[in-house]
This record gives sequence, C-alpha cells and structure tokens, in this order.
Amino acid sequence: MTEAQATPQTGKRVLLAKPRGYCAGVDRAVQTVEEALKLYGAPIYVRKQIVHNKHVVQTLEAQGAIFVEENEEVPEGATVIFSAHGVAPEVYEQARERSLKAIDATCPLVTKVHQEAKRFAAEDYDILLIGHEGHEEVVGTAGEAPAHIQLVDGPDGVSKITVRDPEKVVWLSQTTLSVDETLETVARLKQRLPLLQSPPSDDICYATSNRQHVVKEIAPECDVVIVVGSRNSSNSVRLVEVALDAGARAGHLIDFAQEIDDAWLADARTVGVSSGASVPDELVQDVLAHLAARGFADVEEITTANERLTFSLPQELKRDMKAAAARG
Ligand code: SF4
Repeated sequence: MTEAQATPQTGKRVLLAKPRGYCAGVDRAVQTVEEALKLYGAPIYVRKQIVHNKHVVQTLEAQGAIFVEENEEVPEGATVIFSAHGVAPEVYEQARERSLKAIDATCPLVTKVHQEAKRFAAEDYDILLIGHEGHEEVVGTAGEAPAHIQLVDGPDGVSKITVRDPEKVVWLSQTTLSVDETLETVARLKQRLPLLQSPPSDDICYATSNRQHVVKEIAPECDVVIVVGSRNSSNSVRLVEVALDAGARAGHLIDFAQEIDDAWLADARTVGVSSGASVPDELVQDVLAHLAARGFADVEEITTANERLTFSLPQELKRDMKAAAARG
C-alpha cells in the first residue's frame, strides 16, 4: 500500500480486512435457531448465547428465542438449543432428565476437539488444554474428561501444571485463541515436557487464524484498527490484541458504529476495520458508513484468504424439517 493510493481529496482511507465476520460455525448456529423458530414456533430456548454477539442475540430474542444459562430454566419437554461453543456431556444428560428436545448447534470444529479429548483420555493421556479459564468452550471440552484435563491459561499458566507421566502428555486448545500466543505457550510447555505431543490437526480453527492473519497484514499501516465484536467474544478480543502486536497504533473493540469516538479518528489517516467470527456484516457496513461520513470514504478491501466452508444443520433439526416438508 503506498501513499499514492490514498484518496487524493482527504488522504484518509480505510483498509477493510477479508476474511472477517461470520464463520461457518456461527452461520450454522444462527440458522439453527432461525429454522427451529420457523419449524416449532416460539418460544425456542437457547442455552447460553448462541454465539457471542450482542446484536445477534437481540435479533433472535425479538424473533422468539429465549436465552437461558442452564437447562433447569427450560420448561420440561420444551426445545432447547445448545450454543456453538459446545457443552459437557452432563448437559446432555440434564436435558434427557428434563425430557427436553435438545438440538446441538456446537460447531463441528469444536466437536472435533471434544473427540480428541475423549480419545486421548481413553488412552490415559494427561491432556493440557490451552484456553481461557471460564470460557464456555473450555468448560465444555474439559467436561469430556475432567480427570485427564488440565487448563493452561496462556504462557504464564505453564509453571502450574503437573503431569503423571511426561512421556504421555498431549496439548489441545480452544478454537479461538491467538495463534502466536498459543505457539509461545506450546514452546514453554515443550521446554518443561520435551515429549509433549501435539494435536493431530490444528485446534485453532481456520476462521480464527484467517481473521488474525489479515489483521496482521493491515495493522502496520493503520493509525487505528476498529474491530466489530462483543467483549465476550474470544476471537474478536484476540483481533484487537493481534492488531496492536502487529503495529497498529491503536485498536478498539466495538459492538456498534455509534461507539466510535471521534477522538480516535482525529489524527488518523488510515483506519483498519475487521470483525469477529460472530459478527454479521451489516454491522461492519454501519461502521464503514460512519467512517465515510467523517471523511474516510476510500475503502480498500485487503484479502488474504477466500473461505468457502459451510456446515450442514444439526441432524436432529434436518430430520424434523424433512418430516415437516413431507407432511406438506
Ligand atoms: S470461530 Fe471457529 S470454532 Fe468457533 S464457531 Fe467459528 S468456525 Fe467454529
């Protein structure tokens, strides 16, 4: 990117990251709630936020979804959807006990990590799960094999771990971590445990790493990077950190365009824009309109990957949709 490419009138420009926004797992989870509302009618209960985005949750609430924290808040026999972040086996069990009709919107890439945890636990490995304490995904994955899993919350968590057999240890991770920080955590783990095994394939998902990669590309040129995403969205929070680490002079996380403070733009010529994996693009378009109204009308989309992955809806929902279609 050169100075000559900037808008001649204002010298102000936006570098728009691509890929950004919705990933395949979020798209599937949101569609699951929408299709369930159409098929079964409101209300549909959703355990936890279906995805970590305020706007998405508010929109689904307006359509008749009721978000709850635990199964016990769902009336017996009602339909409950489990969020994209996954749940521990005991949550399925609780649903069975309350005769709930459970639809599992766990992202298949989170399910993959659950399967790895189960397999390594069955082989009696100690599993070091790199992730953020208390995050729903980590709680769900750890619940697959609590006796075998220890949480490692970043590089500083490495000193706290203890293992039974240093030759039989594997690390797994949450899907939405910082790629670079995770590499650092693994390097430190390997200093302590040279025979530590790695997961069979990357646990940090394609969407997380692609969004971080493009933000890293644009950040050095940006006076400020604005990431659209909610505070409880791990991958969105990581994008701001990645931008700052990669050289952006400032970085901010916002849910909505109105949260942009004009002071952030006062001395800026180049603004980077991205969004987390749970953010619909209409929120990014609002940000672009907001920026254009302040002289940042020249938008260049920087693409580092094209994503085509899609996931089909949960089996239990597809089955009911098919049956309803057959009944006409
Ligand atoms: S961020 Fe990754 S793991 Fe999470 S829902 Fe999206 S694709 Fe799945």
